[in-house]
Parts: sequence; C-alpha cells; structure tokens
Amino acid sequence: MSDKYRVKEMVLTLQGEGAMAGTPVVLLRFEGCNLSCDFCDTDFTGTDGIGGGIFTTPGNLADAIEEKWISDTQVNILCTGGEPLLQLDPPLIKELRARSCKILLETNGTLKAPDGIHWICVSPKTNTIPLQNSGDEIKIVWPQKHMNPETFKKLNFNHFWIQPIFDKNYNENLETSIEYCLTHPGWRLSLQTHRFTGLP
Ligand code: SF4
Repeated sequence: MSDKYRVKEMVLTLQGEGAMAGTPVVLLRFEGCNLSCDFCDTDFTGTDGIGGGIFTTPGNLADAIEEKWISDTQVNILCTGGEPLLQLDPPLIKELRARSCKILLETNGTLKAPDGIHWICVSPKTNTIPLQNSGDEIKIVWPQKHMNPETFKKLNFNHFWIQPIFDKNYNENLETSIEYCLTHPGWRLSLQTHRFTGLP
C-alpha cells in the first residue's frame, strides 16, 4: 500500500480543451503511461511536479485534492496523465464520490474505465484498440499516421474533436485540422486554450 497512488502534479486550474474548456478543475496528473506516442508533449514521469507525491490511501489523496479547492462548490477533478486508468481505481472513485466530487477523465482508451466516473474523454492513439469505446467526448490529436478518425465516428460519444498536435509543426497541424473539420461533418476543432492562457 505504500506506493498506492503516484501523482506527478496536482493543481487548481481551468480545463483547457474540449467541451469542458473553461471549467474550474483540480488537475490530477497521475504518473506513468502504457503508451509511448512519438508526439507526446506531456511530462508524466516522477512525482516531482507541483502538488505531486505518493499517496498511500484514497483518503490521503482525496484530502490533498480538497485542499487545492478554494470555493465551497462541488469539486471537479480532472484525472489525466500519462494514462490515469493505470491508477484510478474503484476505491478512489468511491472515496471521491463520497465527498461529492465530480470526476472527469482523460484517457487514451486502452483500458476500460471503472463505473462511477462522471465525464469521460477518450483520445485514441494509432495502432491501439479502444477498450473504452463510449463516453462523453472523443478527441483525436491530429494528424496521426495510420489513423482514420471516421472509424471512431460510429462509437457512442456526444462530442467529436480534432485537435492539432502541439509541436514544432503546429501551424501546419492546425491547418490540417481545420481542413479535416471542414471536409468531414460532425468533427469540431479543439484548441488547447491553456497554451495561450499560461495555465497548466
Ligand atoms: S497516451 Fe497520451 S500521455 Fe501517453 S504517451 Fe501517448 S500522448 Fe503521451
């Protein structure tokens, strides 16, 4: 139990992208990922970020999350990574729900989400099989080689996003993403607002 939950960072901020953009959240970035995408722009290694650490019980972690929250309204917790489903388990979900927290999840979809999560965003990656094939939103970072977003269009989601990869080719990626949305009905452009607000 001493290594139960490994958290890279934990910080109060605004969700930057997708349908929940602008919503106050405690961003809970778990350490580790089960993929190694060549376009990954996230540091999910170690527990040395702001608010990071090792939490030995669901209660310890929930206490730390609640300390980050500054209003007395319902706490939104954005579970991300890395791949949060490597660590977000039923005992932690139960603990957070008992405290009236709303649990938001960003996952690569390769693991099935446990019951009890309020909002699920799946961001599938090339050459993976999405075990989590339903939820609230699906977000394809774009362009990805050997990826056809239309194969995900039939899945049970409410929002379908194309989001330009944030790397040295960003302008080109943005242009390609806009073109995709213009030519493929049902897809909308997701921009990472935290890139220009300076928020985490
Ligand atoms: S799934 Fe996401 S966090 Fe993991 S390596 Fe790929 S882009 Fe990075």
